[in-house]
Amino acid sequence: MKNQLTIALSKGRILDETLPLLKAAGIEPAEDLKKSRKLIIPTHHPHVNLLIVRTTDVPTYVEYGAADAGVSGKDVLLEHGAHGLYEPLDLKIARCRLMTAGPVDERPQFGRRRVATKFVNIAKRFYAAQGQQAEIIKLYGSMELAPLVGLADEIVDVVDTGNTLRANGLAPRELIAHVSARLIINKAAMKIKHQLLQTLIQDLESAVNKQEVL
Ligand code: AMP
Repeated sequence: MKNQLTIALSKGRILDETLPLLKAAGIEPAEDLKKSRKLIIPTHHPHVNLLIVRTTDVPTYVEYGAADAGVSGKDVLLEHGAHGLYEPLDLKIARCRLMTAGPVDERPQFGRRRVATKFVNIAKRFYAAQGQQAEIIKLYGSMELAPLVGLADEIVDVVDTGNTLRANGLAPRELIAHVSARLIINKAAMKIKHQLLQTLIQDLESAVNKQEVL
């Protein structure tokens, strides 16, 4: 429907920081997202519904137009490829860094190294750009364990305080990218629902700028 907007969100780490920005744009969930098991959540805004999806699925919903817009981490967008999407606004929340990391007392492996990560595409591109041979091993979580048990020489993961790395005897090595949450928009929706989406972008942008000043 031309006068209805669907925004894809995930219940991950980004949500707590996204809700105040949406509120400033006049979008408040009509139910408690933490408690509700519903996946389509109405809001008090007459034209907006929220979809709750897996973090890594947000770009897919938006790419195919099942959601008009979404909020996704740059790490997820880089891994997904994010073709066919607009990325009009850096929300400047959930900031962290994509890094390589390895055992604190070891130097990076000379020659081909084994790298454990859930960011397979990002890792392949990064090591290729460095001219570094790497065998990428796909994991779905607890990447920090891999070097401790001999599964990998190095990992690629998102790092915030670095506490998780330190607690596991690892240290950051190379910075791959700075990460923050982005507003993403379906390209066709941007044309068809221009007015609604333009208003959303502007309202979120001023909320981001206010938040920056605080
Ligand atoms: P830290 O110990 O603060 O470096 O946090 C590290 C762990 O938290 C990582 O293994 C990530 O899984 C997760 N993490 C930190 N920041 C983010 C973020 N902005 N988005 C998603 N996951 C994050």
